[in-house]
Amino acid sequence: MTQPPSKRHLQTRIVHPEDQLTPGFESFSVPVTRASTVVFPDLATMRALDWRNDAQWRYGLHATPTSLLLAQRLAALEGGQHALLQPSGLASISNVYFGLVKAGDDVLIPDNVYSPNRDHGDWLAQDFGLSVRYYDPMIGADIAGLIQPNTRLIWLEAPGSVTMEVPDVEAITAVARAHNIITAIDNTWSAGLAFRPFEHGVDISVQALTKYQSGGSDVLMGATITADHALHLKLKMARMHMGLGVSSDDCSLVLRSLPSMKLRFEQHDRSALAIAKWLKTRPEIAAVLHPALPDCPGHAFFKRDFTGAGGLFSVVFEGRYSAAQIDRFCESLALFALGWSWGGADSLAMPYDIAGMRTAGQWPHRGTLVRFYIGLEDEADLRADIEQSLAALG
Ligand SMILES: *Cc1c(COP(=O)(O)O)cnc(C)c1O
Repeated sequence: MTQPPSKRHLQTRIVHPEDQLTPGFESFSVPVTRASTVVFPDLATMRALDWRNDAQWRYGLHATPTSLLLAQRLAALEGGQHALLQPSGLASISNVYFGLVKAGDDVLIPDNVYSPNRDHGDWLAQDFGLSVRYYDPMIGADIAGLIQPNTRLIWLEAPGSVTMEVPDVEAITAVARAHNIITAIDNTWSAGLAFRPFEHGVDISVQALTKYQSGGSDVLMGATITADHALHLKLKMARMHMGLGVSSDDCSLVLRSLPSMKLRFEQHDRSALAIAKWLKTRPEIAAVLHPALPDCPGHAFFKRDFTGAGGLFSVVFEGRYSAAQIDRFCESLALFALGWSWGGADSLAMPYDIAGMRTAGQWPHRGTLVRFYIGLEDEADLRADIEQSLAALG
């Protein structure tokens, strides 16, 4: 006979408390369900579990009510049907590779891709028997000329998050569809707000939730979003094998920031566009690479396909300035911090030597590129800060 709870030893009663959560309590916030073990009412329930069923709880690594809700909200936001969460944006990229390609397959990657994606591709080519080739991001329908019988996956990034070329997404996805090749886009720049990938023939959208979705520069997380269920399951299987999970605490931080994301994005967009237009008038600047401005390759595709731009853009300095001078320019900014990532409240600046990062084409500029992330500070103060730093350039 089962021992009545009141007769158990203290240590057992500490582990098995008899209290109950307050019934009938509701709030706007999503409860944080921390869990490694998921407990089953009986073994028949456990044995009937099907990993394909997103609504079943198996183990905390795979999903909790908190993480599942975030995934569902992200899929809805971007116009997809399914989403999986990974512990970083780069882990989402890795999940796409390991879910879809194997030794002998060929992958096409835009030459301006987020550089850890490039490093990941090179690693797979070097150690895992894949073929990885880079294409000019402005290639458009001519990507047909690069397709091989073993081409399985085409990456896109719209725009490239450092050099800002906006690809003709529909031209590339049309070729991919005609050849039964899966397309995955790194859609982090637009946060899934300003560009709707599933309306342009893309199969998988990757988001670094670390950026605008978190909004606080304090969470690392990523997502893969899909419209097709079979594709979702391929990614889900790889995610399970790789042991990629997220903490419900981190999910709750992203859930807290999500309702303000569009308003933040629009404010970043207003300030960034105003500063980009002003920089265009400065004699120190050779080119402003902001997709909403005509200097930017693919500006026409931006106008056709995008509804906004957010806070991230780049400029190319005149070739007369040395890399060391541009380093000093970045370091003498007071309101712009030097650091990776973006999407939070604080402005950032970072110099890049692009020529050394390209293999599929020639980078057309001589001067150093500086990427700006325009935060939520007052735009006039940010402009004054850049102005004083430009003045120090001499
Ligand atoms: C930041 C970023 C990622 C990776 O996100 P992490 O969470 O930092 O790994 C991927 N793609 C782009 C375009 C990014 O900016």
